[in-house]
Order: sequence, then structure tokens, then C-alpha cells
Amino acid sequence: MIMPFAYVKPGTIQEAIEALQTDNSWPLAGGTALLVDMRDGVKRPDLLVDIKGLRELDSFTIDSKKGITIGARTTLNFLVENKKLRASCPVLAEAALVTATFQLRNQATLVGNICKASPAADMAPSLYILGAQVVTTGPRGERRIPIADFMIGPQKNALKKGELVVQVEIPPPPKAKMAFLKKQRIKGHDLSVVNVAGLADTESGTLRLCVGACAETPVLLEGTDQLYKKTRDLGKLGEQIADLALSSISPIDDVRASADYRRDMVRVFVKRIVSRICS
Ligand SMILES: Cc1cc2nc3c(=O)[nH]c(=O)nc-3n(C[C@H](O)[C@H](O)[C@H](O)COP(=O)(O)OP(=O)(O)OC[C@H]3O[C@@H](n4cnc5c(N)ncnc54)[C@H](O)[C@@H]3O)c2cc1C
Repeated sequence: MIMPFAYVKPGTIQEAIEALQTDNSWPLAGGTALLVDMRDGVKRPDLLVDIKGLRELDSFTIDSKKGITIGARTTLNFLVENKKLRASCPVLAEAALVTATFQLRNQATLVGNICKASPAADMAPSLYILGAQVVTTGPRGERRIPIADFMIGPQKNALKKGELVVQVEIPPPPKAKMAFLKKQRIKGHDLSVVNVAGLADTESGTLRLCVGACAETPVLLEGTDQLYKKTRDLGKLGEQIADLALSSISPIDDVRASADYRRDMVRVFVKRIVSRICS
């Protein structure tokens, strides 16, 4: 049962920040995660601050020199359907396409996905490999937080009291091959048992992979560039990166899968993604 709560729909970011000074107040974006948490009694807000009326959070830009900005009101279906994004940074559209259902994606936002900070958040691994920054505003002004410092634990982000995420900023993506793969229990829609995003630029020898749902936060693998520079034998490289991934994660048993199954799937998915983006 959802407990009683107050609700405001501010017209400006300043009004939203003022409302968020109230104890136990939460921003409401698409509501596809927050309302479920409220129904399950995981969150019992005294005040919901609905940010869907804030046009200032609509920013969406793609610039070859400045990079990409994605405002906090941007829905996942917007990302799926945006042709410019699909051309310049396909991994984000690919991840959005397999997150939740079509109907939910009309409401769900990328920013809500990372603020919820689920270890299995499907939009997060792509943001890690792209070096995204989270831009916040609050009573003490603006902050830019690297995505890996923003998602700090299961259901925990780095926001301070009264702060709101305004947008996510991504540096100009390299001309690289990118891919996102998600292992789920069923066909159709489900949360990830394992998810992996990868990016490879054969010219510069850059290789980045991030594994989700296998630790308290997504894990950006360290040392992938060095391995990529040493060998272009895809079979060998896939095995080496899979070994690296397995030594970097700490999966748990839960309702979706055992830790052992997750480890097996990480090996399969890492090898698959390496062969897809490094060939
Ligand atoms: C049936 C179902 C299936 C789902 N499937 C998936 C899936 O496959 N993969 C997946 O990753 N997720 C899934 N989800 C979870 C959810 O849909 C996504 O995480 C979604 O992206 C959340 O976005 P939202 O805009 O709805 O966030 P909300 O529910 O509005 O908010 C989520 C959290 O972020 C905070 N928040 C939102 N915006 C801001 C902001 N601008 N500043 C500060 N805090 C903010 C809220 O206060 C809340 O704590 C599923 C949910 C449901 C109900």
C-alpha cells in the first residue's frame, strides 16, 4: 500500500530545489522505479517533487566537438528513436531499446535510471564506457560528477540533500564500434542478470568494457587497452578480457540468478561483445 504523501509540481528548477529542502522529499521523473518502491514500502516519501513540468530539463544536443547532453526529462523512447544518436552513439539507443517495455520507456528517463542506482541499471554501462558526467544543481550550486563516482552503491547515488540532476554530459564519442548486450531470464522484458557495454577503436587501440549486475555498482574494466594493444587475435583477446572481467566482479546469488551462473554469463557475453566490436 502506498502511504499518504504531499505532491508539488514546480514550474522552475529553482522552485524544485526549494521544495527538495523538505526532509524526505524525492524528485519524481517517469515514476517507473519510484512508484514501485513506494508501493513496496521501500521508499515512503513525505513529499514528491514532480519534475516533469520543467522544460529546462529538456536539453538534448549532439555536437561533434562538444559531445552529447541528455536532459533529465529525456525519455528512453526518445533515445531509441533519435536518428542522430543512433548514428553517433548507437550503444545508448541499443541499451534504451532493451530497457523495460515500450509503454514504460515513454515515461522512464535515462537520468531516473542512474539515480535509482540499481547495480543492474541498463543505461549505466554505456555511460561508463563513454566517460559520462552527471550535472547536478542544488542549494550550493552546480556540480559535475563522473558517472562512476555518482553511482556509489545499490540504490545509492552521490546526490546531496536538495540536489537535482539536470543533465548527463558525454564527451564526443570516438569513431568506434559499440555494443550493448543484456542477459535476462526470459524472452520479452526483464531486469538484467548480466549486462555488458563495449567500445573499441581499432585505430587508437582503445577498448573499454563495463559489466553490470555483477557487483554493487557497474564495473568498468581496467587494463583493457593494454591487452588490446598486445593482441588482435579475437579468440585470445576475448579469453583475456573475460578473465579480467571475472577477476573484477563480485556477483551475488539473488532471485534472478546464482553468482556462478552470472560468472558463466559474464564470460560468454564479454567474449561475444569483444568479437563484435573488435573485428
Ligand atoms: C515493469 C518494470 C520493468 C523495468 N525494467 C527495467 C529494465 O529492464 N532495466 C532497467 O534498468 N530498469 C528497469 N526498470 C526500472 C525503471 O523503469 C528504470 O530505472 C527507469 O529508467 C527509471 O526512470 P524514471 O524516469 O521512471 O525514474 P523515477 O521512477 O521517476 O525515479 C527513479 C529514482 O531517481 C530519482 N530521480 C529521478 N530523476 C531525478 C533527477 N532529475 N534528479 C535527482 N533524482 C532523480 C527519483 O527520486 C527516484 O529515486 C523497470 C521498472 C518496471 C516497473
